[in-house]
Amino acid sequence: MRKIFNFSAGPAVLPEVVLQQAREEMLDWHGSGMSVMEMSHRGKEFMTIAQQTEQDLRDLANIPDHYKVLFLQGGASGQFAMVPMNLLGNKKHADYVHTGQWSEKAIAEASSYCQVHIAASAEKSAFNSVPAIDQWQISQDTAYVHYTPNETIGGVEFQWTPDLSMIAGGSSDIPLVADMSSDFLSRPFDINKFGLIYAGAQKNVGPAGLVIVIVREDLLRIDPLSGTPTMYRYKTHAKNDSMYNTPPTYAIYIMGLVMRWLKQLGGLSAIEQRNLTKAKLIYDLIDASQFYRCPVVTPDRSRMNIPFTLVDAALDSIFLQQAEARGLIQLKGHRSVGGMRASIYNAMPVEGVQTLVTFMQEFEKNHA
Ligand code: PMP
Repeated sequence: MRKIFNFSAGPAVLPEVVLQQAREEMLDWHGSGMSVMEMSHRGKEFMTIAQQTEQDLRDLANIPDHYKVLFLQGGASGQFAMVPMNLLGNKKHADYVHTGQWSEKAIAEASSYCQVHIAASAEKSAFNSVPAIDQWQISQDTAYVHYTPNETIGGVEFQWTPDLSMIAGGSSDIPLVADMSSDFLSRPFDINKFGLIYAGAQKNVGPAGLVIVIVREDLLRIDPLSGTPTMYRYKTHAKNDSMYNTPPTYAIYIMGLVMRWLKQLGGLSAIEQRNLTKAKLIYDLIDASQFYRCPVVTPDRSRMNIPFTLVDAALDSIFLQQAEARGLIQLKGHRSVGGMRASIYNAMPVEGVQTLVTFMQEFEKNHA
């Protein structure tokens, strides 16, 4: 088998041991005679898998009992609509922080349901930084404040969790909502600071088709907007332990294996250290070079998605070709920004990043 390192932004690399275990269990899960794909979602085998997956997530991220964990479908994009549909209640507007293309999509979707107030925007800095908390202006009587801790395309990441009580006029009881799709479980986080978080699975957690929502129970008492379909109500899924309809069973199973892998590695603090080491290898090389450039300001650089350009864009395609020949794949930048992007989620081994760095050094020597 060809050895490659996959730098895709998602769906993305999964831990090899997880894939091996899935292969071993493919035809016969734990003596059941069935593949997980063939199990009834209400049968005892799959119920065990779902419960264990949720418990392992709760252990890893210290999720207390007054937060519900939901396993849903429709991607993070579905959450762009579900959040306003379910959290507005009788309020007329919500606050959003605009830091790049994914927050922009969340804003556009919410605008169908309410007036969106932009609490802060990084537009002036060409989305190369995140707005400091003292620049945020929260509107009065807002339903919630939404932000995107890691902008997957721009490579901009908050290294801090917003504390809304610090903002003049703000109040600590406004729910903070986060789209954690691309840095979920890459570092410890304190769920108590959030009303609701959501994350598509296909970056750090498992295959596409599953989105994880963690929501504080009191927010489930808000009445969804009238006309909200049953499937788009958090209450529906919370009441039925994510079994109102058929959940994405295989994706939940793989997520469960990933949770076990994370636990064995030592949990979120351990993976954070590994992620810091990996990101530093690439940023140190870029900063020491006149040949590569990263557009993001140093304190707000993402540990997960590293965009970079070559001084001479005419070299882009040859860079990508030679990288691919070395087994370094999916390094092309997002079609909207060009250049390169290395996504180095939890499952990217340090060895993959070292191989990339060595290749980049050699390419620079040959083309500078
Ligand atoms: N938010 C962020 C931060 C993302 O990176 C993505 C996917 N790249 C999405 C939302 C959309 O996710 P999905 O494709 O699961 O709807």
